[in-house]
Amino acid sequence: MARRFTDQQLRQLRNEVPFPWLLQRLAWPHRRRDGQLIFVCPRCGESRSDLNPQENLVRCFHCQTNFNPIDFTMAARDCGFVEAVQHLLSLTDRHQTH
Ligand SMILES: [Zn+2]
Repeated sequence: MARRFTDQQLRQLRNEVPFPWLLQRLAWPHRRRDGQLIFVCPRCGESRSDLNPQENLVRCFHCQTNFNPIDFTMAARDCGFVEAVQHLLSLTDRHQTH
C-alpha cells in the first residue's frame, strides 16, 4: 500500500494537536478540573485520566493506556489509522485560517 501521509504530517498531528481542542472537536465527553483534563476513556469508559502536555499524550489510569491524538481519534471514532489521520487533517485544515 502506498504511503498516504508524510512523516512530517504524522509528527505534527502527534505533537501539535492540543488535546483540549481535539476533545472539543470530536465532541468527546471531558471536563477540566484544577488544571487537569478529565475525559471518558474511549477504551474502558472510566474517567480517571490526565494530560501530559510535555509529551502531548493523555493517559487513562484505569486501563493504563496512553493515547496520542491519532490513537485517541481511532479509539473515539472506532476507526482505523488512515481514517483517523484523514479526519485529524481535515479538522486541523479548518482550524488554520491561513
Ligand atoms: Zn481506560
